[in-house]
Amino acid sequence: MSVTDQDKIRCEEVIAHLLQYLDGEIDGEKRAEIDRHLEHCRGCYSRAEFERLLRRKVAALGDEPAPPALQRRLKALMEEF
Ligand SMILES: [Zn+2]
Repeated sequence: MSVTDQDKIRCEEVIAHLLQYLDGEIDGEKRAEIDRHLEHCRGCYSRAEFERLLRRKVAALGDEPAPPALQRRLKALMEEF
């Protein structure tokens, strides 16, 4: 096992900051570290993509709650992580 850029910050840290990251609330070195991590880490990358997609869907739905079928689907997806 080799130590590479992806090990500079850990998955937990990326996940913990993911929402702020997607909101553009994280800048500078921290943002660059997360960018680098996402380039290397499939798990966090798909998590980030999932959150992005979710946000787009939520935005498209407006303030309405997600329909039960979607909620079940999301729950199933979340359990994969
Ligand atoms: Zn990761």
